[in-house]
Amino acid sequence: MGVEGIQGLHHVTALAGDPRGNLGFYREVLGLRLVKRTVNFDDPGAYHLYYGDALGRPGTLLTFFLWPGGTRGRVGAGQVMALALTIPEASIGYWQERLQAYGVVVERIAPRFQEEEVVLGFRDPDGLALELATHPRAGERPGWPDGPVPPAHAIRGLHAVTLLETVAELTLRFLIEEMGFRVERAEGDRIRLKIGPGGPGAWVDLHVDPRASRGRVAVGTVHHVAWRVRDVAEQQAWRARLQARGFHVTPVMDRKYFRSIYFREPGGVLFEIATDPPGFTVDEPPERLGTGLMLPDWLEPQRGEIERALPPLEGS
Ligand code: ZN
Repeated sequence: MGVEGIQGLHHVTALAGDPRGNLGFYREVLGLRLVKRTVNFDDPGAYHLYYGDALGRPGTLLTFFLWPGGTRGRVGAGQVMALALTIPEASIGYWQERLQAYGVVVERIAPRFQEEEVVLGFRDPDGLALELATHPRAGERPGWPDGPVPPAHAIRGLHAVTLLETVAELTLRFLIEEMGFRVERAEGDRIRLKIGPGGPGAWVDLHVDPRASRGRVAVGTVHHVAWRVRDVAEQQAWRARLQARGFHVTPVMDRKYFRSIYFREPGGVLFEIATDPPGFTVDEPPERLGTGLMLPDWLEPQRGEIERALPPLEGS
């Protein structure tokens, strides 16, 4: 390849409507830690909320741009059709009961891949398609042990994203030849690819449906999928490589908690390559993560104005 390999999923970013509904669902119901409250750096009038494990480690991060009152999107070809999070094998019953107790409709409980993975499908308050998927080695990641979910059942991080594509070939070739993925298995209309050794957080699934129409990226859909690299030098190498192969790649953007480059895979899904460092403790100590509105230095002069414009996140 000439460049160091991708390490797995870094984060997935989706679009949500009501900020309080989003916080209530991901922190109280799913038991993820709110590790950062900030604004969309490209649109400072809107919240950007980051959820993850105790420290917001890459591979556990689910992030949202909040668009109160925004129109709902629709999943179509060239978009993420489902986002899976890992849970322990013994936790399916716990989660089924927990979701039902909170009035969340469980749409599906089904085995996948010769019953090696059991999947519980449901939606967030904005209609985003989520899955909880079991794995025998789920316990290797800690999740957020101090959250409202007992540590034995806590969500452990990102599991896989499923991309909806009308044709498999272009995306498959891109993932394999340009990004270093390998096909792990296929079942029905699903092809699972792994990066590096694979496993939870290092998978992408392709769901191929030749009849799928184009959708619309808006509230309740995934905006982009970010992949991990170890540092800025590796990111630069990836940027140079993708550019040399004719892909449109953005300049490196400073997201404060990581650095980012963006490009689209041939099917249309927006991809990002993000660095592991510096991480979420760069501006708040571990015990205070997610408690204050954090802004990048260049937005600090506008803090008063930004705070007045944002809707309240907590309290009455
Ligand atoms: Zn991102």
